[in-house]
Amino acid sequence: MPGVDIVIPDMSYLIKNKHKIKGVVITHGHEDHIGAVGYLLKEINTPVYGAKLTLGLLESKLNEMGLLTTAKLNIIDSSTKISIGCFKLEFIPVNHSIPDTYAVAIISPVGIILHTADFKIDFNPVNEKVTDLNRFSELGSRNVLLMMADSTNATKEGHSMSEKAVGDSLDNLFRKALSRIIVASFASNIHRIQQVLNLSEKYRKKVCIFGYSMRNNIKKSIELGYIQVKKGVIIEDFEIKNYKSKDMVFIVTGSQGETNSALSKVAFKKHPKISIEKNDLVIISASVIPGNEKFLYRVINELFKNGANVIYQTLNEVHASGHAYRQELRLLLTLVRPKYYIPVHGEFMHMESNAMLAMEMGMNENNIFLLENGDIMNVYSNRIAVEDRINVGASFIDGSGVGELGDDVLKERVILAQDGILNVSVVLDKSERTVKAEPVIIAKGFMYEKESDDIIRKIRIMLNEDIEKYTKTSMSISELQNSIKKRLRTYLYQETKRNPVVLPVIMEV
Ligand SMILES: [Zn+2]
Ligand SMILES: [Zn+2]
Repeated sequence: MPGVDIVIPDMSYLIKNKHKIKGVVITHGHEDHIGAVGYLLKEINTPVYGAKLTLGLLESKLNEMGLLTTAKLNIIDSSTKISIGCFKLEFIPVNHSIPDTYAVAIISPVGIILHTADFKIDFNPVNEKVTDLNRFSELGSRNVLLMMADSTNATKEGHSMSEKAVGDSLDNLFRKALSRIIVASFASNIHRIQQVLNLSEKYRKKVCIFGYSMRNNIKKSIELGYIQVKKGVIIEDFEIKNYKSKDMVFIVTGSQGETNSALSKVAFKKHPKISIEKNDLVIISASVIPGNEKFLYRVINELFKNGANVIYQTLNEVHASGHAYRQELRLLLTLVRPKYYIPVHGEFMHMESNAMLAMEMGMNENNIFLLENGDIMNVYSNRIAVEDRINVGASFIDGSGVGELGDDVLKERVILAQDGILNVSVVLDKSERTVKAEPVIIAKGFMYEKESDDIIRKIRIMLNEDIEKYTKTSMSISELQNSIKKRLRTYLYQETKRNPVVLPVIMEV
């Protein structure tokens, strides 16, 4: 998707049904949950409900979009009970890879609908309590009509690793480090950042933070009380020179190998403040999101070449997933005992796996539903069923601020990128119907150097033929333009097996 910076869901169905929307409830502050909220509020300024950290992170985004003063933000926590339309909502704290994540129980007129949010059950969490299993079991005793549960890790047997165990692995690495330590992680992984800060305090190291989102999130989290750190542990970049290498820790963005991130710049010697020194230890404390492997491995290779030692997930337990494994899903199903079950969050294969698990646990196959985006599930007191469908898709946002791009703009960009462009300019004398100057031909991105001379010569001949026709007949300018376009496209396809954009520009003087 050339030139597209953000892909968000197509919201036309919501906009069409604006009058029915009473509010937006956000379970946690991850990008895949808050990233598009601003674009929705721009169209429908409905109340938003979320926990303190979730709304804190959202506020920065709304501020950048100029929506902060008009947005109606409402903070919720585990004791909040609110009514939205005919629904009553309760929030149950769960563990995840960001603090302040809540499952949502929707008490509807036909029964209780429970959405687990992204969750895991961490018996040794950092800075928070274990997923509130009592509340889930209490909801179970009130009869849950429908549960929708996170499927991300439904293919993985066993129990997800505890955040505390990651801390132990990191402690080992910190203890043995010979020189500087560079930790790359998701900027939203507040628990992980807290552990790195704790270890830095423990081993009397100073911490410097690089990367826009990392600095922003840490600042916000300290402000809101989600990160605790002693004064003087975090230092600014100009103070680094006052400390020995083995006393320095850097927390950076770039755990996915993103080109403009701090870690990537360090690896490719483009960072203005730090470069790799011998014996540096780089810890990539994140899992690589499928599709990003190539980018991350390029960065890892470069770090090794520069003399660093790099620790990543496959080598060491330096990351724990934020999503429940199969044992955790079984535990939740046992506590809640819903009548109907819809696996959510994950690829179709993960949801399928989650559905199989529920069946293995004795749930009736007819009570489990696998949905696709766009399916409308109607919920009644005695049955649930997909009874309608809407069109869904994606909207493409160009970061330069021009706003939403149509499908055709994107298609054009793909053609330009893959097949190139041919531009021919012709200057004609309008009154005398003659050529004022030799046509200019510019070809970009579809020919080899050595074949281009022949092709350009042939294009010139064809152009002259068309122009001659124009000078000798009553052909109009637009007819001339169309003829040039058509003939050149056919010819170029024959010669190059490509379909470049052909752009004839005819100027009349
Ligand atoms: Zn999440
Ligand atoms: Zn998510």
